[in-house]
Amino acid sequence: MSTFTDPWERKFYYLRLSITDVCNFRCSYCLPDGYRPTGGNNKSFLTLDEIRRVTRAFAACGTEKIRLTGGEPSLRRDFVEIIETVRQNPEISNIAMTTNGYRMARDVARWRAAGLTSINVSVDSLDANQFHAITGQDKFRQVMDGIDAAFTAGFDKVKVNTVLMRGINHHSLQTFLDWIKHRPIQLRFIELMETGEGRDLFRQHHVSGEVIRERLVAMGWQRRDQERSAGPAQVFFHPDYLGEIGLIMPYEKNFCASCNRLRVSATGKLHLCLFGDGGIVLRDLLQSDSSQQELQERIAHSLLQKKQTHFLHQGNTGITQNLSFIGG
Ligand code: SAM
Ligand code: SF4
Repeated sequence: MSTFTDPWERKFYYLRLSITDVCNFRCSYCLPDGYRPTGGNNKSFLTLDEIRRVTRAFAACGTEKIRLTGGEPSLRRDFVEIIETVRQNPEISNIAMTTNGYRMARDVARWRAAGLTSINVSVDSLDANQFHAITGQDKFRQVMDGIDAAFTAGFDKVKVNTVLMRGINHHSLQTFLDWIKHRPIQLRFIELMETGEGRDLFRQHHVSGEVIRERLVAMGWQRRDQERSAGPAQVFFHPDYLGEIGLIMPYEKNFCASCNRLRVSATGKLHLCLFGDGGIVLRDLLQSDSSQQELQERIAHSLLQKKQTHFLHQGNTGITQNLSFIGG
């Protein structure tokens, strides 16, 4: 079957696969009250076999990159086996993860040996007290050690996700720039997104990435071209800095035009948009190897419903109560 494509001629090279909803952090914009199980006790997350089948179907239809996310993906006890399972698909040249960094110092070398090719770690503040206040966990040092451990393990670059928040970190650009001056870190400012549970926080703290972009350009930072399976970040470089800055601005006009990713939730539903409605059940087709053809067809057919853009501007966040269940 050919590459997954939607009615707007967008091709999908990139799958974001959530492998758990569970998280041990309580980020103010995501799970301020911590993880609370929903959906009763019967809810179970995709098994290794199900992950093998779903990733095989995507790989057969043009997917080149898979990001493992959550919740906190590294809380899965079989996380190393999950990476090895995804690696069985030779078409997947990039196996990435997004993590809060809690287990990195301990485990990152094993993840790399299993086949992980890139890593994003979330750090919203370089001040240990503020980091604690935002995440509910006093783990700033541990996360910094984790980043060092990633370089030691052989990653030549680490991406850091920083949710941009007015009054919290939007005045800290220089501190972040000093930090990446001699480190091969791509620090990506993500605009705070409105979720069902995060309305008040959004009103209080949302600020456009434009303020950062203007300052970067004034300081001589230049925009870099991106490859086709890359995310939507606008990436900037500067000759005096080893690190780079990325800007992810979902509220900017045309943000959706370059959409190249699909999402599968930890319970095996296909989501066509981070802020879409519902989700298409795939799990019934993940129970045996013989359903591959039908699985690919269901995904391809579902894509016919993909909308041209999200409706965040109208305050319509779809079913997305918070980003922990679908991985951001
Ligand atoms: N637990 C992992 C982590 O925090 O990196 C992976 C899952 S987390 C949902 C993925 C990314 O989404 C993180 O970088 C997080 O900062 C970001 N995120 C969560 N809620 C957000 C929101 N309301 N707006 C913008 N980014 C958000
Ligand atoms: Fe957990 Fe990541 Fe959400 Fe923070 S952003 S609460 S680390 S899932």
